[in-house]
Amino acid sequence: MAWFSFHGGHSGEFCRHAQGTLETILETAVERGFTTYGVSEHAPKERARDLQSDEQDLTPEDTQATFRAYAGRALELREAFAGRLEVLVGFETETVPPDCFADSMRALRSQAPFDYVVGSVHHVGDWPIDVSVELFEEAARDLGGRDALDCAYFDQVAEMATALRPQVLGHLDLIRLCQGQNPSFAPSTWPHIERALEAVSAAGSLLDINAAPLRKNAGPVYPIPPILERAREMDIPVTLGDDSHGPDHVGLNLGASVRAIAAAGYREIHCLRRVDGAVRPEPVPIAEVKP
Ligand SMILES: [Zn+2]
Ligand SMILES: [Zn+2]
Repeated sequence: MAWFSFHGGHSGEFCRHAQGTLETILETAVERGFTTYGVSEHAPKERARDLQSDEQDLTPEDTQATFRAYAGRALELREAFAGRLEVLVGFETETVPPDCFADSMRALRSQAPFDYVVGSVHHVGDWPIDVSVELFEEAARDLGGRDALDCAYFDQVAEMATALRPQVLGHLDLIRLCQGQNPSFAPSTWPHIERALEAVSAAGSLLDINAAPLRKNAGPVYPIPPILERAREMDIPVTLGDDSHGPDHVGLNLGASVRAIAAAGYREIHCLRRVDGAVRPEPVPIAEVKP
C-alpha cells in the first residue's frame, strides 16, 4: 500500500498562517499511515507589497531568511525520518513579481537541493486571488469582471507551467475558491482552461488533486470534476495533496481526492519517489493507494 501527499507541510515554524512544527507534521504523517510525504512551504516574498496581513511586521528579507531556515530544517528531517517515512522536500511557487517571477523561482530552486517544486498561482498580475473576498472582487473589477478574471488566471497558470515546468501543478482551479459550494466556469473560460491543461501536459507536471476545499466549505477537491475529466482525456497524470497547514490537516479529506480521481476514470495515481538521489514519478494502481 502507498499513501502520499506532495502539497502541504506548511508549518507554524515557517509560515504565519499555519500551525505546529514541521517535525510534528511529519510525525503525524507517520501515525496516519503515509509512506511518502512531500513538504512544500510557500516561497518567500520579494516585495513588501506582497506581505500578507499577518506579516506586516516583517520585511521581504525576513521571509527569505525564514525560507532558508525551512530548507535547512526540512532537509535535516528528511534524513532523520529515513526508514520510517520517505520525506520529499519542495516548495510552492508564486507568480509575483509578474515581470520576473520565473527567474526568482529558479533562483530559489537552486538555493538548496530541493526534491521538487509545486507550481502554484495565487495572483493574477499583482492581485492576490485567495486572500479575501474583498481583494478577489477588487481584482475582478480591475480585470473587467469575474469571467475575465477566471480567463486571466488560467492564462497565468499556463505561463507559469511553461516557464517553470514544475513536478506538481498546485490546485489548478484555485480561482474558484470564492465561489463556494457549487463552483463552475463560464463557457468563455473553457478555452483558457484547455490551454492551461495543454501547458501542464507539455510541462510533464502531475496535477495536484487537492483536498483543501473540503475543510474550507469551498466545494469539491481541486480541480472540479469536468476539468479533472478533461485532464484524464488528455492523459495528464495526477497526484495527491492535502495542502496541510498544520498537524490536524495531515491526510484530512485525502480520500475524497482519491474518489474524485477514480470517478474521473483514472486507474493510477502518481507518487514522486527519490531513487539514487533522482526524483521521478511512479504510477501506483488506485487499489493500492490508501493509508
Ligand atoms: Zn498557505
Ligand atoms: Zn497554494
